[in-house]
Amino acid sequence: MEQTLYPWGHNRPFNAYSNHFKKIFGTRLQKLSVDAGFTCPNRDGSISTGGCTFCNNAAFNPSYCQRFEDIRKQIEEGIAFHSWRYKRVSKYLAYFQAYSNTYADLEVLKERYMQALSHPDVIGIVIGTRPDCIDEAKLDYLSELNKDYHVIVEYGIESCYDETLKRINRGHDFATTRYAIEETSKRGITTGGHLILGLPGESEEMMLNEASILSELGLHSLKFHQLLLVKGTAMVEDYEKNPNDFDFMSFERYSDFIIKFLERLSPDIVIERFAGEVPPRFQAGYNWDLIRNEEVVARIEQKMLAQNTYQGRLYKK
Ligand code: SF4
Repeated sequence: MEQTLYPWGHNRPFNAYSNHFKKIFGTRLQKLSVDAGFTCPNRDGSISTGGCTFCNNAAFNPSYCQRFEDIRKQIEEGIAFHSWRYKRVSKYLAYFQAYSNTYADLEVLKERYMQALSHPDVIGIVIGTRPDCIDEAKLDYLSELNKDYHVIVEYGIESCYDETLKRINRGHDFATTRYAIEETSKRGITTGGHLILGLPGESEEMMLNEASILSELGLHSLKFHQLLLVKGTAMVEDYEKNPNDFDFMSFERYSDFIIKFLERLSPDIVIERFAGEVPPRFQAGYNWDLIRNEEVVARIEQKMLAQNTYQGRLYKK
């Protein structure tokens, strides 16, 4: 039997989501994006109408997922869409991805989540949301739901710095993020986060410090996104006015940086994604050309092995 080197139980130099998923579920699962018709307080005027400066939801929503369509129908179409590609997949997680998927009354949330969970092949839900769209009643409900299904809540963290959150017009501070993650995690709900690396005004040192901050919150998983300019966003205007505040990393520099970040991150945090992809028709300005996610992972992993390093090597509790 192969000897394992790392606390996550395999020999890859980071706590990889695909391995973790297989260990937890014993099989390959597919996530199906659904658009449940929610909006977002940063767009509907409750906080602002402009939204976060990087946000263009159309750029991140797959084509099979149409707004306001019946959720169960979206699930069926999603299964049909994926089944020719992933023949061995038979169980699914419904991914409530677009906008803020806890931004409604609890009764509305229950009804929409249960529409997805009523499909016999859906064994859980992944709920993408903002940290300021959650409260104790919603978390208590999700904690109950978590006894019968897999429930994963994924928060947009984006940055641990209030000055950055202000600049990107997030409409909440980091104390709100900390509270949401800690409250979710302590109820035994799998808690994920999304972080953007390279936001204007953040130095590499500031970003590396985020590894230490995020390691202490009880997060189970993290997704990273390199800073990209997306058409139709306020960030494009910010860039045109203040180009010197933006420092886009080449792939080589980004991969070196992310390795340093991982070295400082808790080994308990599962890495779901190193970088994001935006369809070419939405790209504006600096982007890496044609590097797909699988290649990003493979190249970062090779670099880590060549450097003889691993996630958590410099992590201090
Ligand atoms: S990124 Fe999320 S929170 Fe920000 S405006 Fe878009 S949907 Fe709302």
